[in-house]
Amino acid sequence: MPATPPSRSLASRLWRRVRPGPRHALGATVSGDADPATLDGAEPFAFRCNVCGGPARATLASLDREMPSCPHCGSNVRFRAIADLVVRELTGSRAALPDLARRRDVVGIGLSDAACYAGPLARVFDYRNTFFHTSPRLDITAIDAGLAGRHDFVIASDVFEHVAPPVGRAFDNALALLKPGGTFVMTVPFTLEPATREHFPDLHDWSLDEREGRWRLVNRTADRRIEVYEDLVFHGGPGTTLEMRVFARDALLREFTRAGFASVRVADEPCLPFGIHWPHRWSLPIVAKAPSGNAGEALSNV
Ligand SMILES: [Zn+2]
Repeated sequence: MPATPPSRSLASRLWRRVRPGPRHALGATVSGDADPATLDGAEPFAFRCNVCGGPARATLASLDREMPSCPHCGSNVRFRAIADLVVRELTGSRAALPDLARRRDVVGIGLSDAACYAGPLARVFDYRNTFFHTSPRLDITAIDAGLAGRHDFVIASDVFEHVAPPVGRAFDNALALLKPGGTFVMTVPFTLEPATREHFPDLHDWSLDEREGRWRLVNRTADRRIEVYEDLVFHGGPGTTLEMRVFARDALLREFTRAGFASVRVADEPCLPFGIHWPHRWSLPIVAKAPSGNAGEALSNV
């Protein structure tokens, strides 16, 4: 006889750790209640990408908001969380997008969503992606009144930090796009600092220019003062994705309430079967709901 019992296979141990718990089972495809605290951060575990349906492996330590962790579609934790939140909020189930039957009755719109999850969303829902700089265009600070009140869900992932001030217009119009009771799924980088840092609070008549490889922003304020900013932060390439602010969590949440959303929550729940894990308290996804009597009035050019 062996001196020690044979160890269980790694696969069975991992399944035991992530399988649905009896007390918290959601009655859906998978449960998200596995506790990441029970996993060693360096131990590989298997998950299924809920964007493309492909199998993947990761460690908790390697899962990152931005770094691709699905070897098939390149999704990261942010993309998988957005897909998961849309599916859960709109269908009440927790399923991978490829497993869902078509729901053309559910209408959604995205603001510069990544192609990685925009395609799979469009195969299930009556969803279309839009862009600030190219067709189909949508400027969230000045929406077409014809779009107001027509959407079951709106997605804005890492967009609102780039919206020119006053950013309140973007929250107002995200709400205006929604049907009564509709869902706004958003992500932005946010800190736990006391206040949002607006980089250009008096932005009015402004332009970007490049001199000898250095970008600068020149602004003429409403009271005709000239401001020049040279320490600019761009996300994903100069010229198009200028960072306008760094939100603070509490100030960010207050914007939803001020705009008139009925509820808002920080969606920090993990779902290890889908490779979703949030080790930090900042830059988490947010879900907000339109009131049941949402008027859907577009606040264009406010
Ligand atoms: Zn994938």
